[in-house]
Amino acid sequence: MSESDKQSITLLGATGSIGESTLSVLKKHPKKFSIFALGANTNVKGLYKLCQKHHPSFAVMADVDAATELQDLLSHANSKTEVLAGSGALDQVAAHSDVDIVVAAIVGAAGLSSTMAAAKAGKKILLANKEAIVMAGNYLLEAVHENNAELIPLDSEHNAIFQCHPVAQSIVNIGKSHSSVKKIMLTASGGPFLQRDLTSFDDITVAEACAHPRWDMGRKISVDSATMMNKGLEFIEACYLFGLLPEQVQVVIHPQSIVHSMVEYIDGSILAQMGSADMRIPIAHALGFPGRIESGAQALDIFDIARFDFLQPCLERFPALRLAQQAAAEKQVLPTILNAANEVCVEAFLNKRLGFTQISSTVEKIMREMQNESVASLVDVIELDAQTRVATTAHLV
Ligand code: NAD
Ligand code: MG
Repeated sequence: MSESDKQSITLLGATGSIGESTLSVLKKHPKKFSIFALGANTNVKGLYKLCQKHHPSFAVMADVDAATELQDLLSHANSKTEVLAGSGALDQVAAHSDVDIVVAAIVGAAGLSSTMAAAKAGKKILLANKEAIVMAGNYLLEAVHENNAELIPLDSEHNAIFQCHPVAQSIVNIGKSHSSVKKIMLTASGGPFLQRDLTSFDDITVAEACAHPRWDMGRKISVDSATMMNKGLEFIEACYLFGLLPEQVQVVIHPQSIVHSMVEYIDGSILAQMGSADMRIPIAHALGFPGRIESGAQALDIFDIARFDFLQPCLERFPALRLAQQAAAEKQVLPTILNAANEVCVEAFLNKRLGFTQISSTVEKIMREMQNESVASLVDVIELDAQTRVATTAHLV
């Protein structure tokens, strides 16, 4: 294969957990993929190391001071990598004409702009950044369709659904409903507090919330998994990606995290995707799609799995799930509010300014307070996100 046959990749969120897993898969396929640009927020040392290893054409730091620091380090090392600064530069490398694939792995609403830029430029987007689709699902899907972009979910559950769903045969239908699909079963590990005594939830610490039993992830998604807001965001994400009504999505607690989700068809067939709990599997699937490439993940030994459990989630234990189900029925306003309020609350929890149970109770208050807002454009969505952050922050002081 010649250099020009390689698919060129922009990886945004390169220093994070998904970034690391993506680079691990890419390392196995140097003849298939080349790295065009890497993006991160403030982690100068992390991005410097990655630049020295992967030699991208561009390195982007959203934080301007961090970009200056990175520029100094790379200049001293005589690196040819060009450093760009600011969120506009993330959009630029996502939309660049030399790029084939954009891996959207920034955490939070901060990833929306570059994901939209990739969609408008007609790229193949590998979407980990679930907050972008929760915040602006209608507009993101519209941009994907209008510009012949491709959107393949990396979130393990949505990637599993994608693999079992008719949309995998014709990816142009992403976001549209399919008459042969009755419902999907969205699996959840239940996080670290599935069995914990409910009366002690107010005492939950940051360290406890970030210690996920199955997956090793960034801090924000780890807290979301502990409250099960992560499953709530995924519930909304599933409704957008597969054109489903909320009543067609059933959350199923599956503590072993082997079945990554299931699709039930109208004839009664249920298709499931299984694998070890390793993000390199959905990442390799999406990179290789419609083919298959090696991921480097350990093969699942079917004899090691003693049993599969499937349980109903308890909404009293995990009120975030109830809030997200309510929001999913009110696309686009409530999902935007829920996501922005949650981001502010999780940040406050991580900074020890908010208790664990107050995350969901504050999100609920804000949803109630702002539910009558309306949006008619992406600009309105971005404005609503900003207003929600102000209102939520005001609740915290
Ligand atoms: P992480 O915290 O480990 O990494 C986040 C990355 O985003 C870092 O590279 C950081 O520099 C970058 N970033 C943060 N704010 C930014 C900004 N304002 N501008 C530019 N870059 C910014 O998070 P993660 O666990 O890798 O998760 C990334 C996304 O993938 C999240 O949306 C998460 O929900 C989703 N996801 C993660 C996993 C997982 O296993 N980690 C699984 C499914 C989905
Ligand atoms: Mg997931």
